[in-house]
Amino acid sequence: MKRRKFIKNAALTSAGLAVGSTLSSCDESKSKEKSTGAKASLPLVIATWHVEAATAKAMEVLQSGGTALDAVEQGCMIEEANEKGQSVGKGGLPDREGNVTLDACIMDKNGNCGAVVYLKDITHAVSIARKVMEDTPHVMLAGEGAKQFAVSQGFEPEDLLTEASKEAWEKWKVEAKYKPIINIENHDTIGMLAIDKNGDISGACTTSGLAYKMAGRVGDSPIIGSGLFVDNEIGAAVATGLGEEVVKTVGSFLVVELMRQGKSPQEACEEAIGRIVNKPNSDYKNFQVGYIAVNKQGETGSYSIHQWFSMTKFQDGINEQIQSDYFNKEN
Ligand code: ASP
Repeated sequence: MKRRKFIKNAALTSAGLAVGSTLSSCDESKSKEKSTGAKASLPLVIATWHVEAATAKAMEVLQSGGTALDAVEQGCMIEEANEKGQSVGKGGLPDREGNVTLDACIMDKNGNCGAVVYLKDITHAVSIARKVMEDTPHVMLAGEGAKQFAVSQGFEPEDLLTEASKEAWEKWKVEAKYKPIINIENHDTIGMLAIDKNGDISGACTTSGLAYKMAGRVGDSPIIGSGLFVDNEIGAAVATGLGEEVVKTVGSFLVVELMRQGKSPQEACEEAIGRIVNKPNSDYKNFQVGYIAVNKQGETGSYSIHQWFSMTKFQDGINEQIQSDYFNKEN
């Protein structure tokens, strides 16, 4: 993910968050999506962070008549295969023991869903999640069972720990802090939502989770309702950031339910972030959470706790990164 390029120059010191200056060139006027109530032009794709190659792939699928489900799967696969992205699929940063473990889920217009957690040695976790949804009586498979299922479906096991990620892990091990600093470099997820030309919505979410997590840790990303939720009558939402905080507020389901109550996607994302930061004794200065959302009319929104979260949006031939508005304006 190109976002990694942005983090070199600055640090939100009190928050322990690495941020960068490159994004300051983003057009701030685009930072907040306004609700117009008008029906947007379809199809459209949105994704967390700066992932234009992934949204381009998803749009290509939609324009060639593919479904929103095909689009989000194939869009996410682009980042899963991108070894330079150290937070998704192949090349993902490992847990403390050196294992790269992937979490992913997918949800379709009929409310069907599938997920994999703690999946090892298979790059395309999102595709296994789809297979779980379509070819098993279950919603979620974990660990060795998920891997065996993937292999039975013809997926080739491969070592997901690249030289670059191994090197980063070895450096981390020198100090091996029990609680890794939650910064932009060590957590990241691609969450993608698409509406096809018929107005049908699907979503997917895939990640290697928090870098240097405890072995066995699973975040929000494969948890339906937390990392992702789709309701084809209302809209959809997907999360990124510190998964534990998203799970505690069932974030993506919350965003969709707030849209059901009449909030715009932007307002719903803001309120969901509010639920996290307004908790008594919230430690929000030390972690990032971001949401993106789309409603049935094709309006979109995004919001995060800290600066430098962004959404990539592809609509009407324009594939662009939109800098997200954020809660913590103190820095
Ligand atoms: N939400 C993911 C997790 O907690 C990581 C991320 O989005 O950065 O596993």
